[in-house]
Parts: sequence; C-alpha cells; structure tokens
Amino acid sequence: MKMKAAVMESVGGPLQVQEVELDNPKVNEVLVKIEATSICHSDLNAFNDPTTPTPTILGHEGAGIVQEIGPHVKNVKVGDRVALNWVPYCGKCEYCTSGDFHLCEEAFGPMFNGTLLDGTTRLTRNGKRMYHHSLLSTFAEYTVVPEMSCVKLPDEMPLAQASLIGCGVATGYGAAINAAQVRPGTSVAVFGIGGVGINAIQGARIAGAQKIIACDVKKANLEMAKQFGATHTIQVGEENVEEALKSLTGGLGVHYAIDCSGNTKATESAWNGVRKKGVVVVVGAFHASMIVNLPAGGFHRVGKILKGSFYGDTQPFRDFVNIANLYLEGRYKLDELILSRIQLEDINRVFDSFQDHTCANVGRSLIEFKSQVLTPPKDVSETWKVNSYYA
Ligand SMILES: [Zn+2]
Ligand SMILES: [Zn+2]
Repeated sequence: MKMKAAVMESVGGPLQVQEVELDNPKVNEVLVKIEATSICHSDLNAFNDPTTPTPTILGHEGAGIVQEIGPHVKNVKVGDRVALNWVPYCGKCEYCTSGDFHLCEEAFGPMFNGTLLDGTTRLTRNGKRMYHHSLLSTFAEYTVVPEMSCVKLPDEMPLAQASLIGCGVATGYGAAINAAQVRPGTSVAVFGIGGVGINAIQGARIAGAQKIIACDVKKANLEMAKQFGATHTIQVGEENVEEALKSLTGGLGVHYAIDCSGNTKATESAWNGVRKKGVVVVVGAFHASMIVNLPAGGFHRVGKILKGSFYGDTQPFRDFVNIANLYLEGRYKLDELILSRIQLEDINRVFDSFQDHTCANVGRSLIEFKSQVLTPPKDVSETWKVNSYYA
C-alpha cells in the first residue's frame, strides 16, 4: 500500500513528508493504522546518529488501530486499539523465559540494523529498500510491526494519550514500580525531571510514597514536578543536594533514588543521598566513556543497592494496560504531558525546538493523523505555554 511518511533521507535530516510503499504483514506481524505518535528526544538522537541506517522513517512512540494481521498472529485482531512497544521480544531466549522481556537477546540486532525481526524490511520507495526504526517507524500513516510490539488497550482509552505510554511514560513509571519497587510511606528522590523523570514521580506517587523529592537544575522543571506529585524540590547547582535530602528525611537519607539524568554526578549524589539499605536505580543512559565515582569506604556496612534499569523493567502487556487503566480512573496524568498537537508536515519544527536546551523538556508534541491541526490542551501551565512553540 502507498502511504504518507516523514522520511529521513540521511542522518541529520531534515525530514521530508513523502509517499512510500508499505508491504503486507508477514508471519507474526501486524499492520497498524497510526492515530497518534509522539516525538521523543531519542528520535533526535537517532536523527543525529551516524549509525542510523537510512533512508528511514523515525518514530517509536505511537498508538493506533489494527488494520490487518499476518499469519499466526494471536494477541490482537483487526479493530483492536493498541499502544506500540519499541522493545519487542522473542519469547524464547533465557531472559524472555525468565520474564525479563526487556533484556531479550534477540530484538536488538534487528533494531540496530533497521529491519523487522526476520531481518528484512516492509518499506520501499520507488522500488528501493527503506529502513525501519525501533521496529516501529511511527512517523507514518501506517506501520507493520511485530505482534509482540502491539499491546491491546481498553476500548475507551483515547489513542492520543495512549501514544505516550510506550516510551518515557513506561520507563519512568516502571523505574519506580518495577525496578525500585517503591513501598508505601517511603521517601523517593528523582534526579532529572524530563520525559522519564516526570513519570518516575508519577510512579512513586502511585506506589504511595510519602515524600517525593524532585532534583533538577531547571526551576521550571521542578515547578512542573509538583503538579505530578513531587512533595519537595531541590534545585541542583543552587543547593547541596545530599545535605538537602538528609535534612528532608531526619538525617538518614531517602529510601530510594531514581536517576533519570544521564549525568554521573547525579548518580553519585543519589548514592550518597540514600539511607542504609537504600536503593539507587539508574535509568538515564551514559556515554560509554563516563565513569561513576562512588566512595568505597564503608561500602560493606551500608547495604545499599545500585541497579541499572532498561525501559523501567517494563512488561508491556501488564504495565501498559495498568497505566491506561490508571489514566482512565483519573489517577495518572497523561493529558498534561501533551504540549502540542500537530500534523505530520510540521514535524521539523519540533525537531528544531529540541535544539533549545533551555526548554523545559517535560511532555511531548503529538502528531495526529487527522485533517485539522488541534490546539494545545487548555489546562497546560503557563510554563508549558512559554516552552511550547505554540507560545
Ligand atoms: Zn522515546
Ligand atoms: Zn528473548
């Protein structure tokens, strides 16, 4: 079939909206009509990454409606409303059979090669092959994805909000719920209040944490954190973070710290700011050359745990549905994460806005495949209006 897509011809773009060809789904694959897709900073990373196979269609946060299923597909049927998961899994390797789907051994080769799981692509333009991105390529009207990327959501779940779930939302929520396993009545520090950190705050709130302490250099981000459940804020660079964490917790330190910053100094502050037996979860990605310096003296006496978490240790078929149900019950904020709603043709404006590092990078711009451009939601804060390019 022919469809409209934002094509990245070569690394660094710009993206060009063009007509491309999409093949039918093969075994264990699903054709999805994309209703909404949000734009993530990871798309910008792929946009600038010289190893990204091109030409390609970026986009890995999306939701839509199942249009057609390939042979042997069992999990979804035509008409199902699905959120897409960019970490599909084989279901057969040692990690998958242990329930650690996010650590699957098989999915990442095809992901880096720009193919689907069988090593081939369904995308062509003028007869020449194009590459997939994260096995999803959601900046397009339709996509063919692995069955395991399709998570069926409740029928009443709006697809605009559903499109947010599959990346930053699940990663942050999962960091608190799955990786840290935050207990009710405890204290949690979240470092780095961006698209992931704001959802770690929401996860901590859902888990029943008593004190949720947002730590960031940007005051605007800290203000937003309060709207999502932070009970306290610490402005990094202006305050001594470790002392502030201790003074907020009777001198002991927090029970949990979730580091979404990608900054090793934050990891070190997190380690020093948790109490004995405290848990530090590192979600933010570091460059390979970075080193984390932790004090070795007393290490054996404090019983602390430092763990990495990829994708919030998410089990998509459980966690996506839980998040959707929390949203439908009014307990999880997704509407407030939508900065602006645009058409595919406006995508380069969002990529351009990512270059402004002073922007309060919480929330998402959303592409919707509808005839009219929608306006931003009314209940966004003044800060968001200032930082959205609708300002
Ligand atoms: Zn993402
Ligand atoms: Zn596997």
